[in-house]
Amino acid sequence: MHRLRPFAPFVLALVLATPVPAQTNGARPPAGVDRAGMDTTFQPGDSFWQYANGTWLKQAEIPADRSSWGPADVLSELTDRRTADLIKQVATSGASAGSDRQRIRDYYAAFLDTVAIERKGIAPLKPALDSIAALADRKALSRYLGTTLRADIDIFNATNLYTPNLLGLWVAQDLDDPSHYSAFLVQGGLGMPDRSYYLDSSPAITEVREQYRPHVTAMLKLAGVPNPDAKAKAIVQLETRMARVHLSREASSDVQKGNNHWSTADFAAKAPGLDWDAYFGAAGLGTVNRFVVWQPSAVTGLSALVASEPLEAWKAWLAFHAIQERQAQLPSGFGNQSFGFFGATMSGIKQQRERWKRAISATNAALGYAVGRLYVERYFPPAEKARAEAMVANIIAAFRDRIDRLEWMAPATKREAKAKLAVLKVGVGYPDHWPDYSRLDVKAGDAFGNAVRADLWQLRQSLAKLDKPVDRSEWVMTPHLVNAVNLPAMNAMNFPAAILQPPYFDPDRPAVLDYGAIGATIGHEVSHSFDDSGALFDSKGRLRNWWTPEDFKHFEASGAQLAAQYDKYRPFPDLAVNGKLTLGENIADLAGLTAAYEAYRRSQGGRPAPKADGFTDDQQFFISFEQSWREKVREPALRNQVLTDGHAPGEYRALTVRNLDPWYSAFQVKPEQALYLKPEERVRIW
Ligand SMILES: [Zn+2]
Repeated sequence: MHRLRPFAPFVLALVLATPVPAQTNGARPPAGVDRAGMDTTFQPGDSFWQYANGTWLKQAEIPADRSSWGPADVLSELTDRRTADLIKQVATSGASAGSDRQRIRDYYAAFLDTVAIERKGIAPLKPALDSIAALADRKALSRYLGTTLRADIDIFNATNLYTPNLLGLWVAQDLDDPSHYSAFLVQGGLGMPDRSYYLDSSPAITEVREQYRPHVTAMLKLAGVPNPDAKAKAIVQLETRMARVHLSREASSDVQKGNNHWSTADFAAKAPGLDWDAYFGAAGLGTVNRFVVWQPSAVTGLSALVASEPLEAWKAWLAFHAIQERQAQLPSGFGNQSFGFFGATMSGIKQQRERWKRAISATNAALGYAVGRLYVERYFPPAEKARAEAMVANIIAAFRDRIDRLEWMAPATKREAKAKLAVLKVGVGYPDHWPDYSRLDVKAGDAFGNAVRADLWQLRQSLAKLDKPVDRSEWVMTPHLVNAVNLPAMNAMNFPAAILQPPYFDPDRPAVLDYGAIGATIGHEVSHSFDDSGALFDSKGRLRNWWTPEDFKHFEASGAQLAAQYDKYRPFPDLAVNGKLTLGENIADLAGLTAAYEAYRRSQGGRPAPKADGFTDDQQFFISFEQSWREKVREPALRNQVLTDGHAPGEYRALTVRNLDPWYSAFQVKPEQALYLKPEERVRIW
């Protein structure tokens, strides 16, 4: 539900991808409209994207080690450099044993210590590979599969639905009983990000798929696994069978279909194959008796494969995943090979990120809130937190007004909507409470062991939640991540400190530009509480549709109209945006931009602000929005995004303006122009 592309299916690409040409490092974007980046030879009504961004699009180059480039990437670079400086300061200023500073210092330093990593070779992998080789029967296999379960999923907050393990775990507020947490289980097991990579027959995907088996073979060879060719064949075959029983990304985002409660006994009856007692016992879930099975048919299918596929194929698959998962903490041959497939082939990235950048990503993944705490102490002053909180309050007020004025919505639905608005818990900058890392043991010189223990710490943290009351102040994004997120069941939102800075949010420029950029994002996240999935959760977070049937029908009809609008956008001649897959995000963009516009008008008390740079304030608002979405994306990464991501590419998200009347008047858009929509074709939802 977050604003930007989910990184989840690209965890590998993320760890492998990124830095930047020196001249752009930390360069502060100019305050105000970026006039130099515009191309005013285009008419706004023909291509607002080119009008606002044309010169930038011509001049910007995607750095060799990235798959895309835009303001969010620039900010991520800046944040990474600041984070690296903070970590270096920790390293030189001393840290007492067992403190978070010691953990950060040693995690980062161990990851960077490539001499020690090369010297150890594959020794750290040996215990896992030996255990896998010794598996003698299906019961032992089931038990081992249980030991691989990790808390690596976030279904509808961060929308991370990918796990390389057989199943993934998310511990979250139960949807029928929101005062308690439940264990959510999600399909997994694929080495590539999504089932479509195994099953889609388009030439671009086929090309990637053909490189996968050689990649698997190479990784097995590097680890000294015998018969790598035959094993790679068996692994890809097994994963292809898994892909066939997987639900699509689109089907997996249907909350109603996902909310299936199973007791422990249900698993043996509904999904025979895997020895579930052995699996749950090994996973630390032996005493839990309340599960939510998000994709029941996939769990049934995967469990059946545990019984039907050769034991040797499963063992080969386990070995490959054990190697792949730790490629970053193994000798450089593993990382280079992985970059070749996941970075270059799959995302079109030309060059692997420098080691220190990968060390930052790895440290963030393991100790994100400890690092984030250092970050906000240094870079997020209380005045900016207060300014952002005031803007959030303005946008929520604008949203409340709009609900009051909606003609199509019945009073009963409005009451429920306003009850939700009243309980929204909006987190700005960083969480009220910081997670406690005291039980995570980080050792100097042990990159591999540190990563293993960090994943296990995360799992134990999640399992411990099962016995506690639901904590609505919990954050799901670290403060130094350039992103924002709505937590629909918790009626909460996180706006991390790192997105609350230029060019999204800037104390040194007219406020209208902030409303067009971060304001639209805040509105986007607020509206997720009321969109097609937010409509399903009431003010308590219970999965209960609080809309009258007539209202919901109206909402769905408007949604269908917006989906049809997006279905027409074609990034490639052979590939269109999927209006249905991206609908929730497109509704949020539309609602968010509308609410931000109204909130700006309210903040002005109805008076227009003076022109700046020759633009009226309405023009500045929309140009700022358009410029906040500018990006260039490499073709394979863009194709990947169109296939698997709930967010449309930035260029099409920026076309949201076509549905707002004030955009037409701000730029005198005429019926004969390409972007013109007749008033009745403009989608109005909120
Ligand atoms: Zn969103």
